[in-house]
Amino acid sequence: MKILVAVKRVVDYNVKIRVKAEQTGVETANVKMSMNPFDEIAVEEALRIREAGTASEVIAVSIGAAKCQETLRTALAMGADRGILVETESELQPLAVSKILAALVEREQPEMVLLGKQAIDDDSNQTGQMLAALLAWPQGTFASKVAFKDGGVEVTREIDGGLETVALSLPCVITTDLRLNEPRYATLPNIMKAKKKPIDTYQPDALGVEVEPRLAVLRVTEPASRQAGIKVSSVAELVDKLRNEAKVI
Ligand code: AMP
Repeated sequence: MKILVAVKRVVDYNVKIRVKAEQTGVETANVKMSMNPFDEIAVEEALRIREAGTASEVIAVSIGAAKCQETLRTALAMGADRGILVETESELQPLAVSKILAALVEREQPEMVLLGKQAIDDDSNQTGQMLAALLAWPQGTFASKVAFKDGGVEVTREIDGGLETVALSLPCVITTDLRLNEPRYATLPNIMKAKKKPIDTYQPDALGVEVEPRLAVLRVTEPASRQAGIKVSSVAELVDKLRNEAKVI
């Protein structure tokens, strides 16, 4: 069984985000970029499934500018077998990404697609669900446990009230939550080996997908800055301020 894993290049989670002066988006020039953290978890899970002997090949896919090659190399250094770059300079929205992934599923015929539950840059949380709908495949979203059973997969999902376990038939789409696993680090020898692993490159046109955005972003703004706090001299003053100024009690 082949597993396709979607890995997005995003602003590194340690970087303090700055909004562009013209409010059209966030600054990405000269900013450290990394693999979306939920996608690292997806790669790790795919590798564990292959190491358990259930899968034979793990293919990492990234969609975006040529620099996404770096993200693919990270996935290859973690242990993925090969990479696919779908190269475009266009702004990508989840529908376009899921159509591209669906076209790759057609070509590669994997039995499972693993994605992060959300990309930490635009927080859409849509791509996995849209992909499952386009393919008419079952989906297990926000997975905190994935177990193969009776020819299918049981996915334990983190929901508000606790945990929900769903049984999926294969092929299926799974999106990863934070507690599914702890991704491995790429070792130096594996980083060197990854340089020799193949990466195929396609343009969206070649896959028959139009990537034009369907939604217009009106503006992106910084959150309002917090007001400075004050010191109170007694509990009575605190209670008074909470009651009469903040009006929270
Ligand atoms: P989103 O729906 O944008 O929050 O993204 C959910 C997941 O879809 C991510 O964690 C990735 O696994 C995948 N994804 C989204 N955009 C891309 C992209 N440009 N390239 C590769 N994978 C992507």
